[in-house]
Amino acid sequence: MKTKVGLIRKVVIGVILLGVVLLEILHIYGGSSYPSVHAICPLGGLENLWAWFAGQSNLQKLFSGTMTLFFLTVIFALFFGRSFCGNICPFGTLFEFFGKLKKRKLIMPAKVDKPLRYLKYVLLLLITFMAWQTATLWVSPYDPYAAFAHIWKGAEVFNEYFIGLIILIAVLLLSLFYDRFFCKYLCPAGALYGIITKISPFKVKRNPCIDCGKCTKNCPMNIDVAKSTTVKSAECIDCGTCISVCPDSKKYIGFNFFNKRVNPLLVIIITVGVFFGSLMILDATGLYQVSIPSIQQIEKEGKFIKIGDLRGSMTIEEGAKSTGKTIDKFYEIMEIPKTVTKDTLLKSVSAIVPGYDFHVMKAKKADQ
Ligand code: SF4
Ligand code: SF4
Repeated sequence: MKTKVGLIRKVVIGVILLGVVLLEILHIYGGSSYPSVHAICPLGGLENLWAWFAGQSNLQKLFSGTMTLFFLTVIFALFFGRSFCGNICPFGTLFEFFGKLKKRKLIMPAKVDKPLRYLKYVLLLLITFMAWQTATLWVSPYDPYAAFAHIWKGAEVFNEYFIGLIILIAVLLLSLFYDRFFCKYLCPAGALYGIITKISPFKVKRNPCIDCGKCTKNCPMNIDVAKSTTVKSAECIDCGTCISVCPDSKKYIGFNFFNKRVNPLLVIIITVGVFFGSLMILDATGLYQVSIPSIQQIEKEGKFIKIGDLRGSMTIEEGAKSTGKTIDKFYEIMEIPKTVTKDTLLKSVSAIVPGYDFHVMKAKKADQ
C-alpha cells in the first residue's frame, strides 16, 4: 500500500507535468487562445500585485486569471502547506524526476546549505521589487521555468531566454547530485509558500519510534524528520516520502490536518482535487481567464478585445479581427506601415520597422 501511494503520487505529478508541457506546445503552435507559461505561473500574480492594487492594466503577458491563480495558491498554502510543491508544481516534478537518473546523492555541507536556503527569500524580494519598480515581468529572461516552457520553440528559445536556459541546464545538472536543488535554494514561489506553511494546520507528525532513520535519509529536502515530533520546517514540501519509507507508518509517522491523522492517499486526492476543482469552478465563473479567446469565439460572441489585450504572438490580421476593426483601421491605429504584410506577428513588426515598439504602441492605444 505504501509503495502504491508513492507510485500513485508519481503518476499524478507526471500527468500534471505532461499536461503543462502539452499546454505550452499548444500555446506556441496553436496561438493565444492557449495560456502562456507566464499567465499560469502563480508567482506572476505577486509580480502583478502592485499594478492590480493600483487599478492599472495587467503586466505584459499576464491576465486577471493569473491573479486568481496567485490567490488560490496562497489560500491553498494556508490550508495544505507546501503541498502545491510536492503534489502539483510541474517544475518541481521535472527536478524530482530528473534527480532519479542518479541514485547516489551528495550532501551539501551544513555551513553552505544553511545560508544558501535563504537565497530563495532574497530572490522572492528582488523579483517582486523589480517587477513593481519596472512594471514588467523583469525576471522573465532569467527565468528557467519560462525557458523550459519555450524549449519547444527550437532555436528561438536562445533569443528570448538564453540566460534562463543556461540556468535551467545548470539546475537540472545540479539536481542529479542534490535532490530538488532549485526548490531548496532558488525558487521564489517555494519561498513564499514556505513562509505561509508555518501557520498551516497541515503537518507531518512523528511518534516515538524505532529510530531507523529512514525518514531523514530519504527526505528530498534534507529535513531531519527523525529528530522532529512535528515537522515545522518551511522546507517541507509535503511529498510524503518520509511516510512511504517508514517501516510502520501507521504507528510512527503521518500527515495531520488540525491534529487529525490523514491517510497519505487521501492527501493526494484532496490536494490535487481541491486545487484543480477550484480552478474549474473559477473558470466556469469567468474568474480564471488566462488566455485570449480564439478569434472564432470572439467573432461568434461579438466580445471584441481592446488593443491593450493584444498579444505579440498574434498576426496583424488576427489583431484586427479580435479588436473588431477593419484591417486598414488597425494599420492606422497601430501606426504600422502598409508595407508590413498582414500575416506578420505583432511582436515582429519592430524587426521590419526600425524604432517601432509593439508594447509601447499597445500601451498608448490600450483603450481602443
Ligand atoms: S519550490 Fe518552486 S519549483 Fe519547487 S515545487 Fe515549489 S513552486 Fe515548484
Ligand atoms: S519531511 Fe517528509 S513530507 Fe516533508 S519534504 Fe521531507 S519527506 Fe517530504
